[in-house]
Amino acid sequence: MSEPESQELGITESKEYATGEWFAEVVKKAKLADYAPMGGFIVTRPRGYALWEGIQDHLDGWFKETGVQNAYFPMFIPESYLEREKDIVEGFDPEVAWVTEAGNEELDERLAVRPTSESIITPFMSQWIRSHRDLPMRVNQWCSVVRWEATDTKPFFRTKEFLWQEGHTAHQDGEAAWEETMRRLEQYRRLHEEVLAMPVLEGRKPEHDKFPGAHTTAAIQPLMPDGRALQAATSHYLGDGFAEAFDMTYVDRDENEHVAHTTSWGLSWRALGGMVMTHSDDQGLVLPPALAPEQVVVVPIWQEDTQAEVLDYAADLAAELDEAGLRVELDDRDERNPGFKFNEWELYGVPLRIEVGPHEVEDGEATLVHRPDGESVVESRDGIANTVEDHLDTVFAKLYAAAEEHLEENIREAESRNELLGTIGQHGGYVKTGWCGDEDCETEIKDQIAAEIVMVPLDRDEEPVQETCAICGEPATETAYFAKSY
Ligand code: AMP
Repeated sequence: MSEPESQELGITESKEYATGEWFAEVVKKAKLADYAPMGGFIVTRPRGYALWEGIQDHLDGWFKETGVQNAYFPMFIPESYLEREKDIVEGFDPEVAWVTEAGNEELDERLAVRPTSESIITPFMSQWIRSHRDLPMRVNQWCSVVRWEATDTKPFFRTKEFLWQEGHTAHQDGEAAWEETMRRLEQYRRLHEEVLAMPVLEGRKPEHDKFPGAHTTAAIQPLMPDGRALQAATSHYLGDGFAEAFDMTYVDRDENEHVAHTTSWGLSWRALGGMVMTHSDDQGLVLPPALAPEQVVVVPIWQEDTQAEVLDYAADLAAELDEAGLRVELDDRDERNPGFKFNEWELYGVPLRIEVGPHEVEDGEATLVHRPDGESVVESRDGIANTVEDHLDTVFAKLYAAAEEHLEENIREAESRNELLGTIGQHGGYVKTGWCGDEDCETEIKDQIAAEIVMVPLDRDEEPVQETCAICGEPATETAYFAKSY
C-alpha cells in the first residue's frame, strides 16, 4: 500500500544542504512520481508523465524531420539473439532480467527483458535492407527498458525500468554513420539548450567506458547544482561490428555486397530528472516554459463586493491567452485563498503567475510574477498575449543564464594528482587534466574520491591540456574530464 498523500504542501528539505532528500521531496510533492513496491521502480504520475510527453513532442518532431520512422519491437529478446553480439552480452550480463517460465511452463529458451534493443532490431533491419537504395534506414522506438542496476537508484536519474527512446540506423559507410551519430547528439543538445534550459558539454566516453560493442560513444553532460556530472544522453557510432554480427549487408551500385555501418542513440527520463534538479528550488518545482504543462496561471484576488468584476476580468484574460495558444490555467477556486494558490502553483513549477485584483481591473492592468525569482511586473492588459510571451522568454533566459553560469564556473583544470583530488573534493564540478589513456590512473582517483573520467573531447586530434598525465606523469594523450557523477 502506498502512503496517503501528505497534507503538508511545502518543501521542507534544503536544495543546498540536502540535495538528495530535497529532490526526492520535490518529486513526491509536485506529484511527479511515487515509489513502486519493488525497489528501484517508480510510478510516474500524470504531472510527471506530462513532462515526458513534452520531451517526446520536441524530440519526435525533430527525428521525423530528419528521416526517422517510429516502430515497435518486442520487449523480450531470445538469449540466442543476445549472444550474437558478444560485447552486448558481456556488457549487460549483470543487469539483465530473464524470463525463464511463462504459462506455468519452463521456456525452451530464456528470454531477456530488453536492456537495449540492438540485438532484436539489427537482425530485422538486416532483412529489410537489400541494396544501397534502402540506406540510410532509420528506426526509432519509444519504450521502456530494464536494467537491474546495482548502484543506488533515484527517481528518473537511475531506475531499474526506465522510459526512453532508442534510435537505430544503418548507413553505407562509416562516414555517413558518424554524421548520423553527431546529428543525434546535436538534437539532444538542442533539447537541453532550447527546451530544458540547460547548457551541456559534449564529449566522448573513454575507450574503457564505451557502450558495449561501440566504436565511439558520444554523450552530452550537464552539471547538476551539487557539482555532480550527469550523462544525460548518448549517441553511439557502432562501426560495422553489429552489422557483421547480424549479417547486415547491402548490394552497392558496383553490384558488390558490402557490410553496413550502424548507430544507436538514446535519451531517457534521466534528462527530465536533470531538468528538475537543475531549476527547482526550496519552494518546489521550477519548469522551463516550453515544457510546463501549465505555462501561466491566472489568480483572481477578490473581496465579496468585487468578486463579479474581478472574476470576469480574469476569465476574459485567461481566454485571450488560451486563444493565443498559451497553456493557461484560471484558478478561480472559491474555497482556497490566494496565498494557498500561489504556494501550490509554485510547488508545481508554473513559470508565470498573473494576479488580478480590483486595482488591476480599474487600471486595465495585470501583475505578472516570475516563478524562478519572484520578480513582479505590472503590465497593461492591452496586448497581454504578446506581453506574456515576452515574459516567458525572460523566464527561460533567467533559468538558462543561471545554469550556464554554474556550468562555466565549475570547469577547472588540475595539473597534479593532489590538485585534482583537492579541486574535486572542494568544489565538485568538472576538472580537466592531461591523461595518459590508462584506465589504472582513473581507478586510483575513483578509489580515493569516487570521481571518474566522465568524458574526453570528441575531437581525437585535440591537444591535451597538459603534456603529462596528472596522475602518473607519463606523456598525456588526451584531456580527461574528471567528475563525481550521478
Ligand atoms: P545507453 O544505451 O547505455 O547509452 O543509455 C542511454 C541513456 O539512457 C544514458 O546516456 C543515460 O542517460 C540513460 N540511462 C542509462 N541507464 C539509466 C537508468 N538506469 N535510468 C535512467 N536512465 C538511464
